[in-house]
Amino acid sequence: MSCLSLSPSLLAACATGCSDAHLVDCGQHRIHANIVDDFIALKNAAAQAGFELTIASSFRDFERQSVIWNAKFSGARPILDQHQQAVDISDLSELEICHAILLYSALPGASRHHFGTDVDIYDQAAIPPDYKLQLEPHEYTIGGPFAAMTNWLDNNLAKFGFYRPYQSYLGGVAPEPWHISHINQSQLMCDVLNLDVLTKQVQHSDLLGKQTILAHLPELYERYVTNIARPPQDTVLAP
Ligand SMILES: [Zn+2]
Repeated sequence: MSCLSLSPSLLAACATGCSDAHLVDCGQHRIHANIVDDFIALKNAAAQAGFELTIASSFRDFERQSVIWNAKFSGARPILDQHQQAVDISDLSELEICHAILLYSALPGASRHHFGTDVDIYDQAAIPPDYKLQLEPHEYTIGGPFAAMTNWLDNNLAKFGFYRPYQSYLGGVAPEPWHISHINQSQLMCDVLNLDVLTKQVQHSDLLGKQTILAHLPELYERYVTNIARPPQDTVLAP
């Protein structure tokens, strides 16, 4: 594995989506330099098993995540509930809107898609060229086009140093079977993304609902950022 080493301050900027110093090209996407070898090994093993493991979404910077957040907060873009139904936000408080958004969309500055270590994936070989990818749970469960690859990943992700941080609902982020994370490199990002770093980032942003976010940031951080599945301990590789 190539070994990119960043100073603590630059690492914090990368972890909050404010720097892309940690990224390199991998096909049409950019991912963390230190996960490229493991990701390609995973992709090649998937290919051997008959799957075309493809990235749907990788790095998003703070600005991009802010656009998503503000579009949802303002009602310009629908907020979906766990049944994929649009939420009526007209009678919701700002805090209730935050919770509704956070079920599926991360707070800018706290998205694991800033890390470059996390990607959303699907099986290109299982769908026709005109298939419209939705990234919804029914596509990844029995009867869905990606169920077979999901099953294969259940048994093989950890061998390549990856896992699913949103594999089950823990009261925060909804289950996302398409979202995989490099265990060791994402942990290095999580280590610098503390409440203090996140607070400063939100303070300097143009996020809608900013004062409400800041007033409740400790509980939002605990419920949606650190409240994730733990990696399988026995498969954690050396950094
Ligand atoms: Zn994702």
